[in-house]
Amino acid sequence: MVAENSSEKTEKQDTKLDVLKSTQVVIHKALEKLGYPEEVYELLKEPLRMITVKIPVRMDDGSVKIFTGYRAQHNDAVGPTKGGIRFHPNVTEKEVKALSIWMSLKCGIVDLPYGGGKGGIICDPREMSFRELERLSRGYVRAISQVVGPTKDIPAPDVFTNSQIMAWMMDEYSRIDEFNSPGFITGKPLVLGGSHGRESATAKGVTICIREAAKKRGINLEGARVVVQGFGNAGSFLSKFMHDAGAKVIGISDAYGALHDPNGLDIDYLLDRRDSFGTVTKLFNNTITNKELLELDCDILVPAAIENQITEENAHNIRAKIVVEAANGPTTNEATQILTDRGILLVPDVLASAGGVTVSYFEWVQNNQGYYWSEEEVEEKLEKVMVKSFNAVYDTAQNRRVDMRLSAYMVGARKMAEASRFRGWI
Ligand code: GLU
Repeated sequence: MVAENSSEKTEKQDTKLDVLKSTQVVIHKALEKLGYPEEVYELLKEPLRMITVKIPVRMDDGSVKIFTGYRAQHNDAVGPTKGGIRFHPNVTEKEVKALSIWMSLKCGIVDLPYGGGKGGIICDPREMSFRELERLSRGYVRAISQVVGPTKDIPAPDVFTNSQIMAWMMDEYSRIDEFNSPGFITGKPLVLGGSHGRESATAKGVTICIREAAKKRGINLEGARVVVQGFGNAGSFLSKFMHDAGAKVIGISDAYGALHDPNGLDIDYLLDRRDSFGTVTKLFNNTITNKELLELDCDILVPAAIENQITEENAHNIRAKIVVEAANGPTTNEATQILTDRGILLVPDVLASAGGVTVSYFEWVQNNQGYYWSEEEVEEKLEKVMVKSFNAVYDTAQNRRVDMRLSAYMVGARKMAEASRFRGWI
């Protein structure tokens, strides 16, 4: 046998961490299991449309910086495309493509009348001023305005974007469109046509999945030990919901480190001290690493940060009984296999994090109707959607004897494939 040299090894590793390739592998398997011919895979393996834009922004010091942004529209057979916009230094074209596919799957799983889309800008908002961020947000909308709109492609928040950024984007689009267009974007502030419950919706959806998964595994949430990786929008709200449900949040983290207390962390204090990017660990000396955090002894582990956190390197060391993915793509395919073989119940991202887009859909419906719902109404509807979707994915996994990720892809891809077929595309 010829030993692998190190560059071959790195190449193999890179392929495994390539989120687009890994998602294509699972889509292919899912379509095969559903009995669709190869051309369906050919249609769905990449977005139908991907645009790259250059955004010149006048910086506060008078210089001009040119930013690169993307918008991917995966498949609009079911309806307009839908998905967030990410502001992050590590955004890549491939990542945005993969994220748009995941959005299609999410919309399919929770049965929304949308296909998936996603946007991203390569930038570091932590290093930019408020006004620079405003100019960047408006510039991005001007650059993509022809391909987006309330009946074409509806953006929303994602990593490092928030309701203020959505407000600027909505305002810029409304100026171009010459109409007030609240339905152009979701995740807006309440006073601009946002929906009650949108900000905490992703975490609410994750909480419902945790509760349902815990029931399946006979785990009582009261006193259960929970570890949450990431303290951004999803991670922070989730820690609060878990804490309020009587669980013990024994570990949390941000991009710089992690905190651990086997007796449970003071979540209210941490929420109070976090900054708008979810940074909190810098205030403490006794931190542990993100790697150590993931391997803590706990009942429920929630990766709520970024991609490729649980890989074949650490999947054997995960000690949780249930892993619920609040982030997009935190577990590689190899790690999914290892966790499943070890009897750990993995609730995949495309199901667990679909609460955000579900309430975005509610927001868009309210904008279209011009009639607004109460918080209770939103929560009640979200609860129904998430429980139904969790059970559809769980039952498919049981009946077809596949892991939860594959079953989620099967449930998510079916409607999109059928809609494409009825339209005569395949
Ligand atoms: N960015 C969120 C996600 O990845 C929400 C997308 C939306 O609300 O359209 O699911």
